[in-house]
Amino acid sequence: PTSELAGEFAFAELTPTAFLSRAARVFAGRIAVVDGDRQFTYAEFADRVERLRGGLARSGVRPGDRVAVLCSNSHLMLELHTAVPAAGAVLVPLNTRQSVAELAYIVEHSGATLMIATAELAVTAGEVAADVGIESIVEGPAYENLIGEDVPVAPSIDERGLLAINYTSGTTGRPKGVMYHHRGAYLQALAMAYHARLEPGSRYLWTLPMFHCCGWSFTWAVAAAGGTNVCLRAIDPLEIWHLLHTEGITHFSAAPTVLTMLAESSAATGLSKRVSVQTGGAPPSPTLLERMAGLGFDVEHLYGMTETFGPVIVNQWQPDWNALDPVEIAKLKARQGIGNISATAARVVDASGNDIPGDASTIGELVVRGNNVMLGYYRDRAATVASTTVDGWLRTGDLAVMHPDGYVEIADRAKDVIISGGENIASVEVERVLDSHPDVVQSALIGRPDEKWGEVPVAYVELRADAQPDVDGLRAHVRKVLAGYKVPREVVFTDLPKTATGKIRKDRLRASSDGG
Ligand code: ADP
Repeated sequence: PTSELAGEFAFAELTPTAFLSRAARVFAGRIAVVDGDRQFTYAEFADRVERLRGGLARSGVRPGDRVAVLCSNSHLMLELHTAVPAAGAVLVPLNTRQSVAELAYIVEHSGATLMIATAELAVTAGEVAADVGIESIVEGPAYENLIGEDVPVAPSIDERGLLAINYTSGTTGRPKGVMYHHRGAYLQALAMAYHARLEPGSRYLWTLPMFHCCGWSFTWAVAAAGGTNVCLRAIDPLEIWHLLHTEGITHFSAAPTVLTMLAESSAATGLSKRVSVQTGGAPPSPTLLERMAGLGFDVEHLYGMTETFGPVIVNQWQPDWNALDPVEIAKLKARQGIGNISATAARVVDASGNDIPGDASTIGELVVRGNNVMLGYYRDRAATVASTTVDGWLRTGDLAVMHPDGYVEIADRAKDVIISGGENIASVEVERVLDSHPDVVQSALIGRPDEKWGEVPVAYVELRADAQPDVDGLRAHVRKVLAGYKVPREVVFTDLPKTATGKIRKDRLRASSDGG
């Protein structure tokens, strides 16, 4: 009986590069990618990728070698997401907004032997490559030459093997190299295709940087569904609105600040057809969620981190909730939710590792386990150990409550909690109230060191164009809903600094507040 159970039939190793070969067979004539005036069918695209894999091998890239990519959202970046791992090599996506020094540190740390860049990043790529002493190949004739004629046999892939190294943004110290495995990316791509409800008719607009967590695995998920990738090399709200109206876009993903930009844009108009939006990376306020719904977007709220291949927790929507009123819907949607479909488990635990009660008010740390947790940090054993619980769960560093229905809601990042006079202030709670004020576009609350109180809450607020700064009015608005110690001691009206993915850079705000 055991031999029967052992099975005659071999399993296939899970790798996200499989999606493109399948799409080339089933959806051969459908458009895979649109990038400016270039477009490719799935047959053409898969053929280019196979020959690119051959070219990589010809230029000396061996299994296990790291290939750094400095690319805007482009057909190249999509090609490399399949060609590099299919060659058994390791993709190192670089953040296109970083400085030459920051990039050189990462490329050096990754040990990459080759760098590939899109045209608009040629100068930076040249400087980084020269600095580190490696070759760089830029979009144009050199890159097209790499796409040769000979296609060697593909190496076999171990699903637990290294697929990519995604460096964290390093807003709190040196960037760390998060190691992705083939299995996790395969399952995450399927999970994204499922949760975003992608299908062959989908047209996915690339507003999310592909270099961020491999584009939440949508770099493979769109091919899994046989949909069309519409590349956007530079993010601009007017252009996004234009494409929404003219390109038949059905899906896009973006951080809440990008959604705020879209909602605030002079081009914001109702959509003729509903568009599906996946948002995450920071908490979307109920006010923003309600506004987006009003504009004709079906928003799915996702939570994740680089360490989890992006979205690991999803606000799994219940059909019954559609009958509720819009305010109630937005509140439910602001909760982060439950583990995604790729067998992810999420718990909220106290300092000794015990589950906190699911009473929607006790706060603990969110920990996750499952198929889309990283292998660890590249060449940083100490950091890997520090982010793991004794029983093997990933510590997220996020504080959360558990609702009675098993849905998790993030209270704050542990490092963003403000402690004032011994009381904890969750910045997210105060920001929500600030964001609900009609004059406010978005806000960020930080703690400023204070001799008497330890820290006091200071709000940085972006106002609507036609609004007048009114500190007392805003403070009164918060005072109506929250305890006095949570009311911002000071309000600064300003544009908020953001990361490439559109997260508000509280580290910068803190630095400026300490200095002032
Ligand atoms: P960085 O740490 O540089 O911001 P990540 O992209 O890995 O890089 O950020 C992960 C963090 O972003 C999470 O730990 C969490 O604090 C926050 N985050 C992501 N998605 C959400 C969400 N939907 N709601 C609240 N916080 C979120």
